[in-house]
Amino acid sequence: MKNYIEVALPINIEETFTYSYPKSVTPQIGQRVIVNFNYRIQTGIIVGLPEKPACDEAKIKEIHEIIDEKPLINKELFTFAQWISRYYHCPIGLVFKAMLPAGINVNTIEKIVLKKTETKDKDFLKIIKYIEKNGNSCTIEDLNHLKISPLYKNLLEMEERELVEIERQYKRKIQKKVVNCIRLISDSSDELLSPKQQELLHFLQNQPELIFMADISKEFSYSIINKLKEKNFIDIYKQEIHPDIFSDIVQHEPLTFELTEEQTEVLGKIEAGLDEQNFHAFLLHGVTSSGKTEVYIRAMKNALSHGKTAIILIPEISLTPQTVERFYSHFGDIIAVLHSKLSDRERLHYWNLLKKGEKKIAIGPRSALFAPLENLGLIIVDEEHENTYKQHERPPLYNARDMAVLRGKMNNAVVLLGTATPYIESYYNTQNKKYSLLTMSKRVKNQILPKLTVVDMRQEEDHTEIFSKLLRDKIEDRLNKKEQILLFQNRRGYASYVQCAKCGHVLQCKDCNISMTYHSRNKKMKCHYCGYERSMPRKCPECGGYIFNFGSPGTEKIEQNLQFLFPTARIVRMDTDTTTKKNSFQNVFDQVRNGYIDILLGTQMIIKGLDFPNITLVGIVSADVNLNLPDFRASERNFQHIIQVAGRAGRSEKEGEVIVQTFNPKHYSIQYAQKQNFLGFYEHELHLRQELHYPPFTKLARILFLLNNEERLRSYMDGIRHKIAQYPQKNKLIILSPTPAPISKIRKQYRYHILIKAEHQPNINRFIEWFHSNVKIPNYIKMQIDIDPISLL
Ligand code: ADP
Ligand code: ZN
Repeated sequence: MKNYIEVALPINIEETFTYSYPKSVTPQIGQRVIVNFNYRIQTGIIVGLPEKPACDEAKIKEIHEIIDEKPLINKELFTFAQWISRYYHCPIGLVFKAMLPAGINVNTIEKIVLKKTETKDKDFLKIIKYIEKNGNSCTIEDLNHLKISPLYKNLLEMEERELVEIERQYKRKIQKKVVNCIRLISDSSDELLSPKQQELLHFLQNQPELIFMADISKEFSYSIINKLKEKNFIDIYKQEIHPDIFSDIVQHEPLTFELTEEQTEVLGKIEAGLDEQNFHAFLLHGVTSSGKTEVYIRAMKNALSHGKTAIILIPEISLTPQTVERFYSHFGDIIAVLHSKLSDRERLHYWNLLKKGEKKIAIGPRSALFAPLENLGLIIVDEEHENTYKQHERPPLYNARDMAVLRGKMNNAVVLLGTATPYIESYYNTQNKKYSLLTMSKRVKNQILPKLTVVDMRQEEDHTEIFSKLLRDKIEDRLNKKEQILLFQNRRGYASYVQCAKCGHVLQCKDCNISMTYHSRNKKMKCHYCGYERSMPRKCPECGGYIFNFGSPGTEKIEQNLQFLFPTARIVRMDTDTTTKKNSFQNVFDQVRNGYIDILLGTQMIIKGLDFPNITLVGIVSADVNLNLPDFRASERNFQHIIQVAGRAGRSEKEGEVIVQTFNPKHYSIQYAQKQNFLGFYEHELHLRQELHYPPFTKLARILFLLNNEERLRSYMDGIRHKIAQYPQKNKLIILSPTPAPISKIRKQYRYHILIKAEHQPNINRFIEWFHSNVKIPNYIKMQIDIDPISLL
């Protein structure tokens, strides 16, 4: 009898696959294994050790090799992955892929060795002839020129008939980095040294402990270095080098304060939870600058003192040097910062240290939730309302905030969600007692929340002006007082669209059903969905007209306008167009902090984690950008943005002030934001959600279908419409039948979707399972299931 394992592969197929393995190995669940799949080498994860195979035994192939000695995915993460896979209807192989650092993968090198030459098959003979000529072995690439297809399938068959043997070698994708170093072993001797040699010796004596050969050989020739070695002054040895991303972080002493009354009370409750070592979920609703981060730091210290580890999730945007420095000053060596700018090597390095238990805290954006920490005691989700916690690019389409609560539950850990503007669903969870509510309503150091003034842009004299008279005057005033100004516009580029003044045609992306944004710097039109760029046309492609109207202003245009209005002000713009380099964030921060900048203008990027005491004026250029989107969360997002941006003002003794410009001054998101009244907003919004059957009153899912042929997709969707009508339990949910998505085309792919609403999650699951087994999706159509979608565009 053979032995079998079930393997999950990192591909978008629900099933797992059965393989056999030789007697010489003992597989364990969670180990990586190398197998052949569809004539390709794939790395999979062992997910089961079945007694009997689930498929035809004759078809089962043997694995090539088990890579790991011990399971790479431990039991806890394994169960977590299973849960994510089930909840989000995502193949578990893809969940593992999301969990593991990319750098951990292996490359396979295959060598074909000739064994026998007797065969009649023409293709085989061709291959054999070539290998013979090549000295009886070669690589697969060597054989490509023979133009035999399918090549790999043929080779496998030859291997089966023992004509060749395929030797496989596995190499880590990321190799250890080893460099030559120099060590001083003696500094005096009777040997005579030349002046240059003496100079080198002297130079080495004044170097730090670790001396890199590469640094020395810049100044001294190899022959001089070698001479010193021959004369036994130095030793040259190899040293493994680890990445150190903290090397350019400014290290400072941790600041400690006496906690405010509110902080003390809140921390007390969290610590009681940590002491109990039971699952607790808290929502910390603390106004901006109420000292939430300080609470996180203390809670982390408490968890560590219990011998526990901690994860802190922060939105990518707020992974600013300021935040990292602050955590680093408290936790130094035991903290691993994982962010998207890390190289695969750096990420793998930290992942390994976390797994080995050498780092006890993982901090990073959503994927840090998968940090391989044992003994997890605390998970913090900062700015829990942020959309960036939802993965939307590729499956699993998980939300790290929700999964943090799950991982916490699985580990009897404390989960702490913090924000100044709770996500409606999270706050609702405090009312139905799923989370405990913690509140901090005052700012630290007796700062007062800034005053918000709403300007009705419809009343302005000149409708073409970006700035109201009031905002212009206030900017002028702050410039005179040498105080700093922050301006927010949630739209980059110059103009949101370009429209022909004669025929009304709006210039669209050729691949997406989206109007293109004009960027004045290089006079280009750009699609913000696919990145497609073209130059600005001279004439309207529809009617040949020469005059264009430009849509609402983006940060580029605002910057130009500012330069025109305040020619002596020092202005800096920050958005994804300007901050492409690794350090440009840091540079701008340093400049603002040191007072070299008067006006900081930017998109969402500037509203998180900034703490600059000299900013006393905040301007929201148009508080309507969010409201124009066909999205039930538009008002919520608008409210959040206003409160968060406003929170950047007045973070010192100097009082802060916020000017909100809008064409919708009566809109409830703006009205409540002006009064900084979260609860009022929440109740209003909740009422609307209930009326319209939206979360938190219903669970939501969407199935998206993509195809590059509109006609074909539409007729296929007609078929689906009929199918869905046959669903037996239709009374348990609302299915909005297939319609084109609001953005009906992206990257040449036409998009249709089905929305599903149900009061109870299991009803959604049941429908999706029914859909899977009753509706055949041809493989040319791409389907994406999104549970708890954030965007319905
Ligand atoms: P939040 O995360 O709520 O915006 P922070 O924790 O960043 O607030 O605190 C805002 C500022 O106040 C920071 O500069 C922080 O160092 C400081 N701070 C926090 N707690 C205290 C305290 N108890 N006493 C004095 N200053 C504090
Ligand atoms: Zn496009």
